[in-house]
Amino acid sequence: CGVYGVYSHTEDVSGLTYLGLYALQHRGQESAGIAITDGAWMDVTRGMGLVNEVFRHQVPHMENQCIAVGHVRYSTTGSSLLANTQPLLVNYAGGKIALAHNGNLTNAAEIRHELEQQGTIFQTSIDSEVIVNLIARSHKETIEERIIESLKMVKGCYCLTIMTEDKLIGARDPQGFRPLCLGKTEEGSWILSSETCGLDVVGAEFVRDVLPGEMVVIDKDGLKSYPFATDEKKAGCIFEYIYFARPDSVIDGQSVHEARFQMGRELARESGFKGDIVISVPDSGTTAATGFAYESGIPFVEGLIKNRYIGRTFIQPTQKKRDTAVKLKLNAIRSVVEGKSVIMVDDSIVRGTTSGKIVRMLRNAGATAVHVCISSPPIGYPCFYGIDTSVRKELIAATKSVEEIREFIGADSLHFLSIEGLKKCVPNLKADDMCYACFNSAYPIEDGAKPAGNSKY
Ligand code: 5GP
Ligand code: SF4
Ligand code: MG
Repeated sequence: CGVYGVYSHTEDVSGLTYLGLYALQHRGQESAGIAITDGAWMDVTRGMGLVNEVFRHQVPHMENQCIAVGHVRYSTTGSSLLANTQPLLVNYAGGKIALAHNGNLTNAAEIRHELEQQGTIFQTSIDSEVIVNLIARSHKETIEERIIESLKMVKGCYCLTIMTEDKLIGARDPQGFRPLCLGKTEEGSWILSSETCGLDVVGAEFVRDVLPGEMVVIDKDGLKSYPFATDEKKAGCIFEYIYFARPDSVIDGQSVHEARFQMGRELARESGFKGDIVISVPDSGTTAATGFAYESGIPFVEGLIKNRYIGRTFIQPTQKKRDTAVKLKLNAIRSVVEGKSVIMVDDSIVRGTTSGKIVRMLRNAGATAVHVCISSPPIGYPCFYGIDTSVRKELIAATKSVEEIREFIGADSLHFLSIEGLKKCVPNLKADDMCYACFNSAYPIEDGAKPAGNSKY
């Protein structure tokens, strides 16, 4: 998912949030929502679909609106339903809050069960509602204390943007799994965004990343920082750099583009593959493919064309939808690949659906050989921290060796980037402060290796 927040007394907070969510669209395409307040009223508009579909007719607006939070959703827990869209908005004894959550809580089911036993009613099936209820039930006096108390009870992965009638609040879990950054516009408006591309789009300057285990609160007095769990082991998601984030974003001081480019170079060195041309599976494989070409000296050519009007195929909740989506999404250019030995670069193999179909497509278009290079190690284990690879039986690398996967996708050769190689590609990050669990099963949270919340899996 993607989360966003704006605090401003001069600028159009809902308009900026709309733009921010548009820039974060790659983080989730199932639903979108914007909540706004004018300091007294609070309102939320949510819907299924893309940002420009949900707000096709109107971006929500209030006369003296001064805070907004927004969300784009990629469902990992709870089904893809209107009732499960965010931001969540609740009235509680202390006032109103709206909350947008990116991530997955690993102990949501337990907490939810306990709260239900005590009479709490849940209106959605998403784990984020647990946080809202904890905040509402807290006996602490200030909203800051209420939130911190709640965050200390939940485990797992969360980046939150929260608003009350007069505060914009951002929080990042102690491991720092997902990104969250802070920016400021020329007019002095504060922005919270999952990625820096959401700052660029509104012309805001990057101020800094919200730190793992830090809560930031913005109100009329400016910004205050509340570190609430800074000693815990960090575990930034390496997959953000491989696939999830946009290449023009910088997360925790590491450019995503640079990381992907290096992954491509490293792949060229590790695999030693030779061929006539390097092609990418657009768009997610493109940066690594250019790195491969740069390192190997083999020309990068566009061999596959992507239909621009289609979103990310993986982020489609059912396998059937994903299947048709691949054909609709990509087509090979015969004049480019015919008679050629092709090196095809993609970022990851999850279920093997995409790669298998594309290899076939390339052969049908006349490629004489297809060597597949993947800029991540084999994904053998599920993610419980907000990326939908939690269906272990569907992960092809959970049950098949590299050689068996090669055979399954019908490639002449197949190489996956090694974990060691991957680590070299993110020089600005501390290798030990990252999560690689979907590759090596070293889950960074003690009891993290279990299905999240009320996940249907
Ligand atoms: P597969 O067909 O192997 O299941 O999916 C691999 C493709 O899905 C790659 O091209 C990758 O870019 C894309 N993809 C989209 N979303 C995700 C995601 O959340 N995780 C992973 N690992 N790959 C994804
Ligand atoms: Fe990221 Fe993989 Fe860790 Fe999940 S398990 S947080 S996808 S590195
Ligand atoms: Mg892809």
